[in-house]
Amino acid sequence: MRSFNHLLSSMFWVFVSCTLCGALCACEEQSPQETGMDELVSNPFSTDMDMNQLNSMQNESSDFELDQTIDDALTQDQTVDTIDQGMEANYPPPPNGYPLFALPIMPEDIDFIDHRVVFGVDHDPSEGQRIRCEDYAGRIFPYCYDGHLGSDFILLGAFETMDQGSARVQSALAGTVIDLDDGNYDRCHADALTADVSCDGYPMQANYVTIEHDNGWRTDYLHLKRNSVAVTIGDRVSCGTVLGLVGSSGYSSAPHLHFEVTDPYGVIWDPFAGPSSQPFSLWLNQPPSGSSDSLPSTSCSSP
Ligand SMILES: [Zn+2]
Repeated sequence: MRSFNHLLSSMFWVFVSCTLCGALCACEEQSPQETGMDELVSNPFSTDMDMNQLNSMQNESSDFELDQTIDDALTQDQTVDTIDQGMEANYPPPPNGYPLFALPIMPEDIDFIDHRVVFGVDHDPSEGQRIRCEDYAGRIFPYCYDGHLGSDFILLGAFETMDQGSARVQSALAGTVIDLDDGNYDRCHADALTADVSCDGYPMQANYVTIEHDNGWRTDYLHLKRNSVAVTIGDRVSCGTVLGLVGSSGYSSAPHLHFEVTDPYGVIWDPFAGPSSQPFSLWLNQPPSGSSDSLPSTSCSSP
């Protein structure tokens, strides 16, 4: 288990959010290093937001202070008023019921993943301000990011850990590999000058695996390490089959796994249950509300 300071350092280092663009993941990330909340929050928005807007946002969320340290931000309740936007209310029940997933990280590698924060699916329908988001529990940044469609599991130690072997990504449920890409540059990172992601001149294309499950749902695993994809199209996989390694390919500022869930109608779901998501979890073992550990279990068995 890595030290708490190391964990904090990694948490400060990375600020991740993604949207999936078809086969290529577009992952917006900014990574101000070792900064306080002021810079972490304001820096990503410096190009499209002035201080009045920031102050306005601060006032809208009474218990979210921009000058908190990130640690404070992560330990204090940032719940904002939420409206039940359960996706199940908007779409017909999927055929063949709902899937249940294991966390898509191999159990032996779970300590390489940040347990405190998952950058989750954004349930706030408003657009245009990156910080305006709402995760499954009704929390705002840094638990989510405007327009994010998946769940980001962050590699502690970033590229150092990636170079030492990274963490293995496992299939979250049995199914068939229907799409993948590999061989793309995997050291994409935040560029302080442009406040955007740079792939050092290489194509910004993600290494990824897509699995179709027997009930028609699909899961996507993105930003994988170059040449790490361990399956081929048509392969039958079990829950727990290794798919590849966590990397930083595509629109990604630091190594992490973007996990995305799509139902048979093409609707993207948040696998986490919560007041801002659907009331039931798509994880086999979602941690209880208020737990200090944000990660569901890697086990492929029901509790
Ligand atoms: Zn993402």
